[in-house]
Amino acid sequence: MSNTSTKLNELTEAIRIQIDRTGEGEHSTPLYLTSSFTFDEAETMRAAFADENDENIYSRFTNPNVDEFIKKMCVLEGVEAGYATATGMAAVFASMFALLQQGDHLICCSSVFGSTHTMVTKFLPRYGIETTLVDANDKDAWEKAVKPNSKMLYIETPTNPQLEIIDLEWAGKFSKQHNLVFNVDNCFATPLLQKPVEYGADIIVHSATKWIDGQGRVLGGVIVGKKELIKDIYLFSRNTGPSLSPFNAWVLSKSLETLDVRLQRHCENALKVAQALKQHANVEWVKYPFLEDHPQYEIAKKQMKAGGGIVCFEVKGGIEKGRQFLNKLKMLSMTANLGDTRSIASHPASTTHSKLTEQERLNVGITPGLIRISVGLEYVDDIVNDLNQALD
Ligand SMILES: *Cc1c(COP(=O)(O)O)cnc(C)c1O
Repeated sequence: MSNTSTKLNELTEAIRIQIDRTGEGEHSTPLYLTSSFTFDEAETMRAAFADENDENIYSRFTNPNVDEFIKKMCVLEGVEAGYATATGMAAVFASMFALLQQGDHLICCSSVFGSTHTMVTKFLPRYGIETTLVDANDKDAWEKAVKPNSKMLYIETPTNPQLEIIDLEWAGKFSKQHNLVFNVDNCFATPLLQKPVEYGADIIVHSATKWIDGQGRVLGGVIVGKKELIKDIYLFSRNTGPSLSPFNAWVLSKSLETLDVRLQRHCENALKVAQALKQHANVEWVKYPFLEDHPQYEIAKKQMKAGGGIVCFEVKGGIEKGRQFLNKLKMLSMTANLGDTRSIASHPASTTHSKLTEQERLNVGITPGLIRISVGLEYVDDIVNDLNQALD
C-alpha cells in the first residue's frame, strides 16, 4: 500500500505519519503509557544506552507517541530533528539553556510572550547570560545590540499580543552575518502559515498548547531545527526533564491531522472579526496582520499565507472601558489561553503581561485598553454579534 517513491505532501504527512504499531491492526495510533521499555538482550540494552541504536529506553528520553508528534512537526516545519517538551515555556527554556552558557549574549525582540520576557530578563542573568531587548522593527537598534559575545537571536512573529510582524528574511540575514543562532517562536503562525526555516531559522520553538492542540485540552511544546543543535537540546533535556508526556503527545499528534482545516476557518473568521471591529464607533483602532493598514502589512503578506487567528484592538476610553467591555461579553470566554475552537477575549495589561512594569508594557505597545481576541471556530456572525453588543 505504501509507495515510498512518491513524496507525500506535508499536509498528508501530518495525517499519515504513524509510528510502528503493535501488530493488532489498530487504525489510530495506540497510546504508549509506559515509563520505560524492556530489552530482550543485555547487549541491545547496552547499545541503547551507548546511543548505538535508537531503541526506546525511558519515556523521559523518547517515547513512540512523542516521536510521532515530533516527526510530524519536523515535516511541517521542513527541518531535520526535534524534541518535544511538556509546555511551550519548557521549549523556550531548553532552546536557550541548552545552547547558551555563562558569558554569552542574547538578542531578543522586546515584545515577546510574558513568561519569555521574565525568563530572559530575570533568570538568564542569574546564570551569567546577558540579554538585550530590541524593538522589533528598529533595524538600527539590532545592529547596535550586537556584541562580540552575541550568540543567539530570538524573535516571535507575529508578536504576542501586539501582532507586530518581524521581517524573517531580514532577521535571517542579520543572524547569518553576525553568526547568531536564529531561534524563532513560531507559535502564533504555526508552520502552515509561515516557515521560518525558509529564511534561515536554525531553531523553531512552539507552544503546542495553542493552535496545535487547538481545542484547549493539553499543554505541550516542541523545538525543531538543525540536527546538531537539536542533539545538544536533546542531551540537555533528557538529563533535566522537561519532556512531553505520552498522553499529551498522542492528543497533539491527532490534533495535527486537523490543523490545516481548523486554521483556514480561524483565519477566515479572524479577518471578518477584524473588519467588523473597524466599523464600530467605540473602537480606537484594530490590528490584524492581513488588514491593509497594519504597519507591516507588506511583510505579513510576503511571509505568511494568512493572517492567523488573533485580532487585537483598543477600546475607546482606556482601562475602565476595557474592563466594562470584557464584563459585558456573553459568549466569548475570558480565559488565559488562545488558539482554541472557542473564541477568547483577554486583557494583556492585567493578565499575561501584568508582571511587566507600566513603562515596560508601553514600550512593547501594550496600552491599557488593549483587548486580544483569539477568534474561534464558532459561526462568525455569533462572534461579531457578541463583540458588538459588548462594545455598544
Ligand atoms: C503561550 C505561549 C508560550 C508558552 O507556552 P505554554 O505552552 O503556555 O508554556 C510561548 N510563546 C508564545 C508566543 C505563546 O503564546
